[in-house]
Amino acid sequence: MKKILIAGGGIAGLATAKALQNQGYQIKLIEKQPDWQTIGTGLYLPSNGVIALDKLGLGDIARKKGFLISSRNIKDANGKTILDLDLQKIWGREKPCLGIKRKVLHEILIEGISNIDISFNTTINTLKINPDSVTIELSNGNKEEYDLIIGADGLYSTTRKLLLGDIPLRKVTAQVCRFMIQKPKEINSWTLYISPAGQFLIIPVDNDTAYCYVNRKTRGFKTFDKDQYMNPFKGFAPPIAKILKEWNPEDAYWNDLEELPKLPEMGKGRVVLTGDAAHGMPPFMAQGGALAIEDAIVLSGLLKTEDWNTIAPAFSKNRNDRIDWTRARNQKREKLSKLPFWIAKMGLKKVGEKNWTEDYRPLSKTPDW
Ligand SMILES: Cc1cc2nc3c(=O)[nH]c(=O)nc-3n(C[C@H](O)[C@H](O)[C@H](O)COP(=O)(O)OP(=O)(O)OC[C@H]3O[C@@H](n4cnc5c(N)ncnc54)[C@H](O)[C@@H]3O)c2cc1C
Repeated sequence: MKKILIAGGGIAGLATAKALQNQGYQIKLIEKQPDWQTIGTGLYLPSNGVIALDKLGLGDIARKKGFLISSRNIKDANGKTILDLDLQKIWGREKPCLGIKRKVLHEILIEGISNIDISFNTTINTLKINPDSVTIELSNGNKEEYDLIIGADGLYSTTRKLLLGDIPLRKVTAQVCRFMIQKPKEINSWTLYISPAGQFLIIPVDNDTAYCYVNRKTRGFKTFDKDQYMNPFKGFAPPIAKILKEWNPEDAYWNDLEELPKLPEMGKGRVVLTGDAAHGMPPFMAQGGALAIEDAIVLSGLLKTEDWNTIAPAFSKNRNDRIDWTRARNQKREKLSKLPFWIAKMGLKKVGEKNWTEDYRPLSKTPDW
């Protein structure tokens, strides 16, 4: 029986375990943390991510536990609509996208896996590619041999480092703030408030809960005082003022955003990188989760037909178009976010729908799996 090791139990690793299970492989998943990382805030899963969950047999439960999103509404600080995007038009499907708690998505993926040997508190220390296998030494001292290693260990991937060396990440922006709130009654879609100072996004993740993602506009990589961070948003239209009265900086998650440069190949030989380990990028297109789940399905298909000695190039060849497109459109969005506010606002009104439709056009086609 062929042996596979998956490093990392995030969205990519769990989706891969789900896609590969019950196919006659012996699978082990190692996770650096002492338990599943089922904490965190919310996630917006665009339609291609929901379709990938369908393919894994988990779409219905995700729809049931999440919140279906059928429009993206962009407003100014006074609550006046600048752009109202019908997502059905963009994706060609009814109620196509999903807001979901990260915790819930992880639980759905975890409940979906079986017949997998799971080892917490474990990482890979060394890795050696042999003619027909890969030998690794784990942090618990065990030396083990596998037919395939899948590095799904996130943006700061150790598997990638062992395989390809140190690849510096590009710093994109400082201090995005994320937190959960009780869902305001009036927020029933992806709703973004924009001003010259920054962006305040609210996404329902179930009938009672919503997720906030706040980003201060800054030139260069500037860090703000956490207590002052929300000041520019305090005079915004309801429900922002009420949200900020109840907001506690200590309950929020603070992240810098970074991007992994395009890798020449997503792995090497019998070692494949997936998810953020292969193509981590800031969430301007909100594609990280969706691409990670797609990776899992594509890889499981390729393993049935391709020579495992060259599985990494075969995987890269299949995935490059979609991932390169997403990275390019993500970078375009990053540039647009630096435009003076009045130009950005005018652009959104005049060509917003056209641009957003174009951003997701190739992703709305089902991948080659
Ligand atoms: C602020 C922010 C907002 C985002 N919003 C969205 C969004 O709305 N929609 C969306 O789709 N995406 C979003 N993303 C991106 C999304 O979170 C990631 O793309 C996704 O979580 C990647 O999953 P992953 O499994 O590849 O990596 P991770 O989630 O990082 O999981 C990696 C796992 O590997 C484990 N690990 C790490 N090192 C090792 C090791 N050496 N050995 C073993 N295990 C290891 C970690 O503990 C972790 O469990 C956002 C990202 C950020 C930063």
